[in-house]
Amino acid sequence: MDQLWDVLKAAETKGVAVGHFNISDWVLLKAVFESANELNVPVIVGASEGERTFLGVAQIAALVKSLREEHSFPIFLNADHTHSLDSAITATKAGFDSIVFDLSALPFEENIKQTKQAVESLKSINPAILVEGEIGDIGTGSEIHASVPDRSKDLTTPQEARQFVESTRVDILAPAVGNMHGMLQTMVQGDARKRLDIDRIHEIKSASRSLLTLHGGSGTEDNDLRKAITAGINIIHINTELRVAWRQGLEAALGQKPHEVVPYKLLPAVEESVKQVVLARLRLFNQQQRRSQ
Ligand SMILES: [Zn+2]
Repeated sequence: MDQLWDVLKAAETKGVAVGHFNISDWVLLKAVFESANELNVPVIVGASEGERTFLGVAQIAALVKSLREEHSFPIFLNADHTHSLDSAITATKAGFDSIVFDLSALPFEENIKQTKQAVESLKSINPAILVEGEIGDIGTGSEIHASVPDRSKDLTTPQEARQFVESTRVDILAPAVGNMHGMLQTMVQGDARKRLDIDRIHEIKSASRSLLTLHGGSGTEDNDLRKAITAGINIIHINTELRVAWRQGLEAALGQKPHEVVPYKLLPAVEESVKQVVLARLRLFNQQQRRSQ
């Protein structure tokens, strides 16, 4: 079975991106796995610190490993937005394939210093683990927000991207390129979409020569996502769209069966609702794009 690095490089050569979907329960994990399996494309499952605390670090690693082995399927596990070295070490030891080490809230130089130390320490535990670093501000919380803060001042510059990647030796970079965690209510309704700074992605790719992740992909204009892949994005994170589908599926199931108490008679509707989102996003990310570089 290929390692995550090989899968990402193969996707880059093909001009596609690998979908990353956050999960915090078995229904979500099942929906993500079934979708990727149906389309026969590799997939990354992500769990942030909060999601890991709820599901259990060792438990989520065991669940993903069991799917990977039983089906010989390229499903990988990422420790999303990890804010401390201790928490990153715990996930590395549990067998995660990659770690998003997110010190983007710190001043740039301090972020570089601590991220570099984390790369060295995590690779001494597992040389194959991929470490992703983050610079710029893409907000916090994959949930529904009342308004969009002005983030234009906090976008990543190509110079910062190059300096960060060269100094820290991260495998993957998460830049701020107009993306944002969470969604607005108008985005949930489909009235508004996020827009990306495609030229900036292009420049960051050229300057850093790094694999790039787009965080906060939920609610983004489809065509911007296509162009972002062409410009050099390799991984796209979707979380809030899944959470919305999870809730809508659950409300519909409870509404249709007001007296039902059997979980396995209610939860398939939730799985199906989440699956529709994952399938649509994976189809988009895996359309082959012509690279412009
Ligand atoms: Zn994120």
